Amino acid sequence: MSFNHNKIEEHCGIIGISCNDFSYSVANSIYTGLMAIQHRGQLFSGISTTNSDGKITTYKDFGLVSNVFKVKKIKFFSGNVGIGHVAYGSLENSNIDNAQPYYHKSDLVEFSLALNGTITNFNEIKERLINMGKVFISNSDVELIVTMIETFFRSSESMLEALKLLMNIVKGAFCLVLLTNEGELYVMRDPIGYKPLCYGIREEENRKFFIVSSESCAIDAMEGILKGDIKPGEIVNFHPLKGLKKYQILSRKRHGICQYEFVYFARPDSIINGISVADVRYRLGINLAQSDLKFNPDNTIVVPVPDSGRSAAMGYAWGSKIPYQEGLMKNRYLWQIKSDPNEKLNPVKPIVEGKEVILVDDSMISGVTMKKIILMLRKAGAVAIHVRIACPPIVNSCQINSSFSNKELLIAYQKRKLNRKDLVDEICNDIQANSLKFQTNENLIKSIGLKKNFVCYACVEDKILKKEKKVIELIQ
Ligand code: SF4
Repeated sequence: MSFNHNKIEEHCGIIGISCNDFSYSVANSIYTGLMAIQHRGQLFSGISTTNSDGKITTYKDFGLVSNVFKVKKIKFFSGNVGIGHVAYGSLENSNIDNAQPYYHKSDLVEFSLALNGTITNFNEIKERLINMGKVFISNSDVELIVTMIETFFRSSESMLEALKLLMNIVKGAFCLVLLTNEGELYVMRDPIGYKPLCYGIREEENRKFFIVSSESCAIDAMEGILKGDIKPGEIVNFHPLKGLKKYQILSRKRHGICQYEFVYFARPDSIINGISVADVRYRLGINLAQSDLKFNPDNTIVVPVPDSGRSAAMGYAWGSKIPYQEGLMKNRYLWQIKSDPNEKLNPVKPIVEGKEVILVDDSMISGVTMKKIILMLRKAGAVAIHVRIACPPIVNSCQINSSFSNKELLIAYQKRKLNRKDLVDEICNDIQANSLKFQTNENLIKSIGLKKNFVCYACVEDKILKKEKKVIELIQ
């Protein structure tokens, strides 16, 4: 599903890899890693590598990884250290100059950078830099970060010191990988840790690789072994010969991995903060099944909205003892940008005909897609459709995931002044379901399995409505 109509999208995925064999080219491994995190962005793809001569090579373009990097393009890279990036965005507002990795060279420093993030004090920092005489050619977060690094590097001539200063000044949600022309990798995660960032190693007979990625599924794909997460507020430096050095720059009592990573953004085969995304989704389904209506198991089936509702639907089926059936077929050759459910989904008539369907999805944004799916299932002969949503209602917008900032799109936000029962009844009526149930906040946190003050769930938190605060201010 896509934000174009009614669904939010994660904005970026990043990869970094370093090999201690200077004759080895890491471009193919980066390609494999980017393919594994393609779900985090489908508009741009890019790779940068540094070779033993200190030459940084960068290529990026509009499109999926497999379209941008044909075999010839991969051969064009050389170098044992590299980074990669996939990004989401809208074609109308996108400019190839904003694609990443972002290569930068001045008289003093040369590097390439890939950023996954949203800088919330962007305007304030940019104004300060403009007052210092800095010139910008775009309005992108990545250009701002690059300009800050260049500025800070001038005073210390140390990349580590420049990044430490950056960490202390920038607010928001960000993870970055930076590649120098000297073949060093720097990795950084914001002090709250909104976005996931993990690392692993790969060992072959004569080679050792350090790998960093937005999601562990890419480390698996790159044949690495997951070692852990980059900690919130941490900078990690990796040199092909000297190895790994970690620097804990900021330590906060409050962390806030985005709950929506577990609910929707991340791939189910990823491990975030040591927790399996698939397990969380399964538990979300089990919890939804608790104290639900009593259905006749002989005439009722649990059907997922593929693919993101699948793990929760399996959990629901297990928890309710109602059979699980794939009653909706997804066209796997349409990427998320193509969002119309009529193009993407088709009901399996022999499965749904004459049945009460418990339809399970990860979350509900505008309700437009869900309404279309319900209509489809009714046309295919389903006698009743009971919608079960693995995430609580999204009652607040979020500046961190900027495509989630449009309040007008959020059906629950529009009805936020209603009490919870009326809000659910109205949405149920709007989407023309027979019944509707959302996850509770308590069960969301329980399913994730982290302490409350280690998860951001501000977009589903009622009390924020009363305070009318920006969600990011509540955490920082
Ligand atoms: S407010 Fe919601 S979408 Fe935004 S970071 Fe927090 S959990 Fe994620």
